[in-house]
Amino acid sequence: MVDARGVRKYFGSHEVLRGVDFAVADGGVACLIGPSGSGKSTLLRCINHLEPIDAGAIVVNGALIGHAVRGSHIVELPERQIARNRIGLGMVFQRFNLFAHLTAADNVMCAPMTVRGMSRADARRQALELLDRVGLAARADHYPAQLSGGQQQRVAIARALAMDPNLILFDEPTSALDPELVGEVLAVMRDLARSGMTMVIVTHEIAFAREIATSVSFMDDGLIVEQGSAADVLDNPCNPRTRAFLKAVL
Ligand code: ADP
Ligand code: MG
Repeated sequence: MVDARGVRKYFGSHEVLRGVDFAVADGGVACLIGPSGSGKSTLLRCINHLEPIDAGAIVVNGALIGHAVRGSHIVELPERQIARNRIGLGMVFQRFNLFAHLTAADNVMCAPMTVRGMSRADARRQALELLDRVGLAARADHYPAQLSGGQQQRVAIARALAMDPNLILFDEPTSALDPELVGEVLAVMRDLARSGMTMVIVTHEIAFAREIATSVSFMDDGLIVEQGSAADVLDNPCNPRTRAFLKAVL
C-alpha cells in the first residue's frame, strides 16, 4: 500500500529526511515512533503529497505519489494526477482541523459532495452512518465548539472515512487530548484496524502500538533506524537510541 524508497527532504539546507525506506502492506498498521523533530510528520506529509520530496520515490496504492528522481531528473506529477491519487488517502491530524462553522455531519459531508459530486441526501445518509460508527450518532448536528476534543477527533476520523480511503495517516491523533479522552479515540482506531484498514500512525501511545501494530518503525534524526514487529522494536530493541527513547516515554 505504501512503498517509500530512499526519500530525502530538505527544508533549506536542513536535511530532514535522509534516505527513508518505509513500507506498509495492504491491511497493515504501521506505527511510527521517535523523538520530536525526527521527521515523522514530514514523512507523513510527503506520503500525502503535502510536501514534495527531493530524492527517492513514494508509491501509494500502486500510484507514484511523491515527486521522484528518475535518473538525474526530478519527475513532477501533473496536479490533476496528484489530486486523483490523494482521493484514496485520509489524514487525521493532532489538532482536529474541523470546519468550525459546520456541524459534525456537514464536516463529514463536505468532501464527498464537493470532490465526488455526491448528492446532499446521500452524503447526509453516509455521514450519519459514519458518525454512528464512531459513536457520535447523537451529535450529528452539533458544532465543533459544542464537542469535546475526543468527540471532535472522532468526527475527524469519520470525515476521513467519508472518502472511502484505502489508507489513513494519523499524526499524533491523541496528543492534543486531555488524558481521559484518549481512550475513546484509540477505541475507534482499534476498530478501524480490526476492520482491515491500512493505517500509518505516528503516536507516543506505546501500549496501543504494541497492541495493534503490524510493524513499528523508530525514527531518529531523519532516518528510520529500527523497524520490525512490535515485540522486536518495543520489547527487545537493538538500537541504543530506540532503547533510550522507550525508556524516556514509558
Ligand atoms: P516530528 O514530527 O518527528 O516531530 P517534523 O517532521 O515535524 O518532526 O520536523 C522535522 C524537522 O523538520 C524539524 O527540525 C523541524 O523543525 C523541521 N521542519 C518541519 N517542517 C518544516 C518547515 N515547513 N520548514 C522548515 N523546517 C521544517
Ligand atoms: Mg510531528
